[in-house]
Amino acid sequence: MTATAERLADEFDRLVMLVGDQTEEWDRAGSIPRNLLRDLGSRGMLCPQVDARYGGIGAGSLDTGEATARIGSLCSSLRSVMTSQGMAAWTIGRLADSGQRQALLSDLVQGRLAAIGFSEAGAGSDLSAMTTTIRREDGELVVDGAKVWVTAACYADFLVIVGHHEDGAGAVVVPTTAPGVRVRRVGDPLGCRAAGHADVTLDSVRLPLDALLGGTSYSLPMLVTTALAYGRMSVAWGCVGILRACLRATTRHAAKRRQFGRPLAEHQLVARHLAELFVAEQAATRICEHASRCWDAGSADLVVATILAKHTGASQAVKGAASAVQVLASAGAHDGHVVARAYRDAKLMEIIEGSSEICQLILAEHAVATG
Ligand SMILES: Cc1cc2nc3c(=O)[nH]c(=O)nc-3n(C[C@H](O)[C@H](O)[C@H](O)COP(=O)(O)OP(=O)(O)OC[C@H]3O[C@@H](n4cnc5c(N)ncnc54)[C@H](O)[C@@H]3O)c2cc1C
Repeated sequence: MTATAERLADEFDRLVMLVGDQTEEWDRAGSIPRNLLRDLGSRGMLCPQVDARYGGIGAGSLDTGEATARIGSLCSSLRSVMTSQGMAAWTIGRLADSGQRQALLSDLVQGRLAAIGFSEAGAGSDLSAMTTTIRREDGELVVDGAKVWVTAACYADFLVIVGHHEDGAGAVVVPTTAPGVRVRRVGDPLGCRAAGHADVTLDSVRLPLDALLGGTSYSLPMLVTTALAYGRMSVAWGCVGILRACLRATTRHAAKRRQFGRPLAEHQLVARHLAELFVAEQAATRICEHASRCWDAGSADLVVATILAKHTGASQAVKGAASAVQVLASAGAHDGHVVARAYRDAKLMEIIEGSSEICQLILAEHAVATG
């Protein structure tokens, strides 16, 4: 085990103690205590990839992924907050100038919380339709727009907001307390209920010029792909976590619960569910490991490997969670239960960071180009 992996494992043990048995309650209440998020953030756990020179853990993709899966097996809402913080940190790390990186990345490993907004009411899968603008006026930046479904925005101290800027696109860092910013919680989401999703309006928000990452424009596809790549990898590992939680709950229940004179696990139709769950968890893990190794090696295959991991993870998590609920039946059919949460949370994984259909389009294009 590398020193980084050991540190992450120690931090995870501490996190398990802090989280305890609160995850059901968080799901019901629709929130995670902000102090706990700050505590985890200040230990670098919400964005483990941030380099040690900024005070972060400096983990590679494989170690970050394994930590993400562990957290995802406890609570997909917490994992979602981690994904958002990681995406914000990744985007800052790739696009910001050195002064911005030093200030913002240090903040993110000292307990400040961030989220990232691309999507708008009219721009979901097709982000080129976004209408948010970032313009210069009287030596300041002015941001106007409305983002939807920004994960972790309810907890965030600042948001990375993507919009049109000059001839291309830009990403600005917007404090959630800035005049003109309104953060409104999304009511009763299907899953990841404590992830702090919010719609955000930006009404003539005035910011200093150095709020623009890199001080320049980028092409919108490049900007979006940069942030989404990290998010896809994180969600893929989060799906591994969902599958592990389902496998654990289902095998334990099937070994203990007896019907028709023997444990459920000895009924062949139930055993098939268990085998399929095991295959799903193993397959998703191996595909994520492959993609993370591509990231760690800087391989050109990482784009396709990441989409493959995200698509496989999400679709397997949806099937696996449905099997888990089926095997637990009434024992898992109440709000807050680990398999009930997995069932609701997993479905959202097929929508975010590039829906299943968008992933399939990209994978089909790759297959045709290389076939
Ligand atoms: C839980 C959750 C968390 C989110 N977190 C964030 C966040 O942190 N930041 C953020 O900016 N956004 C976030 N989003 C928004 C998310 O990125 C979008 O929901 C997603 O991109 C899909 O967009 P849409 O919902 O508008 O669906 P649409 O784009 O309207 O798509 C509807 C359906 O049509 C399909 N479809 C669309 N175009 C095509 C096509 N060309 N070919 C085939 N099928 C197609 C889609 O796959 C989908 O099934 C979040 C959403 C959810 C539900």
